[in-house]
Amino acid sequence: MTETRSGALQDPWEMALEQFQRAAQHVPLKRGIREFLAYPKRELTVNFPVKMDDGSVRIFTGYRVHHSTVLGPSKGGIRYHPAVTLGEVRALAMWMTWKCAIAGLPYGGAKGGVVCDPKSLSAGELERLTRRYATEISVLIGPESDIPAPDVGTNAQVMAWIMDTYSMHRGYSVPAVVTGKPVSVGGSVGREEATGLGCAIVAREALRLAGLSLAGARVAVQGFGNVGSVAAAALHRMGAVIVAASDSRGGVYHDRGLDPQALVEHKRATGTVAGFPGARPLTAQEVLEVPCDVLVPAALEGQITRENAARVAARVVVEGANGPTTPEADDLLRARGVLVVPDVVANAGGVVVSYFEWVQDLQAFFWSEEEVRERLERLLARSVHEVWRVSQERGVDLRTAALVRAIERVAEAVHTRGIYP
Ligand code: GLU
Repeated sequence: MTETRSGALQDPWEMALEQFQRAAQHVPLKRGIREFLAYPKRELTVNFPVKMDDGSVRIFTGYRVHHSTVLGPSKGGIRYHPAVTLGEVRALAMWMTWKCAIAGLPYGGAKGGVVCDPKSLSAGELERLTRRYATEISVLIGPESDIPAPDVGTNAQVMAWIMDTYSMHRGYSVPAVVTGKPVSVGGSVGREEATGLGCAIVAREALRLAGLSLAGARVAVQGFGNVGSVAAAALHRMGAVIVAASDSRGGVYHDRGLDPQALVEHKRATGTVAGFPGARPLTAQEVLEVPCDVLVPAALEGQITRENAARVAARVVVEGANGPTTPEADDLLRARGVLVVPDVVANAGGVVVSYFEWVQDLQAFFWSEEEVRERLERLLARSVHEVWRVSQERGVDLRTAALVRAIERVAEAVHTRGIYP
């Protein structure tokens, strides 16, 4: 277990396992089945060379973890970040299992990652790294076995390179091997904005169930990437006031509200939301503590901890990121009456539209933007309402309720399939 100097529980895998154990207490499971669900099915570590622009060769380390394949092929993104570890990828893979199960998708959970700083690589280096990593993990991925997608530090272009590399090895195009591709190579309309938009839809539904209104609600967003910026814009359209936003380089606050579109343009021009004209500067940590009604942590895991949970001023936390709240912080927030809408529900919009993309690729029959959006709205609203109901019936918090439903679904499939041989 990784402990900070202050002893806070922050290692993502420890967090994921603790969340699982808490929820599993509410599900009647035989010990062996409980252990089967707790641990990853398989983990691949690859060390591979990449030719750099200066002619040198650098060795990179990457991972692909399958947590579960019980409900179907495994699904989950690929992260490029300097702080990627096997433990982090393992945690993210487990969260994908629960996320897919709650949404009712026919998938298990997986995740991949490469230890690298994509911002410091040229486009050519990024392409060669991606093609070699895709080749290294090609023993695992495939449209019927394991389907990657974007995550922190990767995007539609990276997915296109993976799709092309896999297809070159096969000798024919296999668009369904990854999701989150550009529309020109078999991507789905609405995939790019699906996680952020989904987050706003889930926030709206959760607030409604809690008897709160989104109109006029004051929102702070940590992380202004593909999730945070799109969620901010969607929440703004739904009538909320975005009072604070941050990214890895800093943040901004404005009592009367920030215009998300202007913030996106400022970030496009300068590389950060920091320095947005007329707003008060903040650090990425301070954004978690500003006075607001809804906090959307949409950056990385382990942000709300036992150190700062008491200073979170929001009434509702909607987890755009995976794993932003540690289990200790969950307890502290609950004791203060703060409602936490967990990651596995709040950010499921991405994988839901990934599923739509995979279905469209397999059928070679593509949907309109309205069809994608309507199905996304319907599916997310259904899962928020289901998780809310389980939480009320069992007297547990929303994270536990979500994981209880997920664990029940996967466990039922294990029982029905039986233990092989
Ligand atoms: N990386 C995203 C997530 O954490 C999307 C995964 C997918 O679309 O497969 O949910």
